[in-house]
Amino acid sequence: MSLITVSLLTREELLDTSARRWDALRLARPDLVPAVDLQQRLLTIVADTAHAIGRSRLPRLSLPPKYLAAKLARGVPVFAGEPIPIPLGLLRESLLKLCDALAEGGAAASALHIRDAIASGSMEAGSLLTASLTRDQGAIRTGAVHRGLAPDLVWLVAELATTPFAHALQHSVFDHRQDETFAAACDAWNLGYCPACGSWPALAECADSHRVLRCSFCSLGWELNTYACIYCAEAGEPFVTAAPDEERKDRRVEVCSACQSYLKTVDLAALSPFPLVAIADMETMDLDLAAMEHGYGRPSLKEFAKR
Ligand SMILES: [Zn+2]
Ligand SMILES: [Zn+2]
Repeated sequence: MSLITVSLLTREELLDTSARRWDALRLARPDLVPAVDLQQRLLTIVADTAHAIGRSRLPRLSLPPKYLAAKLARGVPVFAGEPIPIPLGLLRESLLKLCDALAEGGAAASALHIRDAIASGSMEAGSLLTASLTRDQGAIRTGAVHRGLAPDLVWLVAELATTPFAHALQHSVFDHRQDETFAAACDAWNLGYCPACGSWPALAECADSHRVLRCSFCSLGWELNTYACIYCAEAGEPFVTAAPDEERKDRRVEVCSACQSYLKTVDLAALSPFPLVAIADMETMDLDLAAMEHGYGRPSLKEFAKR
């Protein structure tokens, strides 16, 4: 099984599990408390939106399985270039709440400008959310700069608002793999970027000796059939797995000197349910720093032809 969709927990289970992990992180890293507080507030909004989507009738991506199989075989993720209807009401509300949380959490003026632009319609929520779903960084950046808004913050807000929908959409596509051609194409996916949305993984979670890449956007999990650099497929000497902290062999970085990129890898009892991959990402920030100190980075998003 190469693709793994991890089910959403109930709201209570999710808040419980995440609260425990956030508290542990606050204890371990008192210097990060304000950032953790903000992140917890943002992810609560994300989780609430995910549950609201779960209760509503989701716009569906109904594409023939054979068409999807052919697309995957060409290395093109499922969402790329598809006109996907967005649940605008729900996600627009989430956009505004996220701006408010960011404003309270320290990004005051920049976040409020974004909120005003969305509320007044000067920045159209539908186009923003669609650009985020299709991972169109260029469009979001241009739109933000044109309106005098902070591009990185607009990208972040749009991503957080869209991620519950991307997650639900990913489930609606990959939970049903009855068609043999489609199932085979899913199993054959051996690329480092997400077969649903095209994003790079936030990290790899190792559970039961399976190294599962977890998408930073839609949370899909997928396993490669090679142990190699996920970015350039280098498997020789330039590809090294190391634990920066000798005492913590369960937390590693895979670094590749062929493409100067890195991937974080953590051992966990079970894969993180949506949207907790973001917590795992934050819990391992020291690994990002260790890799970056040695000159490794993460490549920018891949671009795919519009169709
Ligand atoms: Zn994805
Ligand atoms: Zn590489």
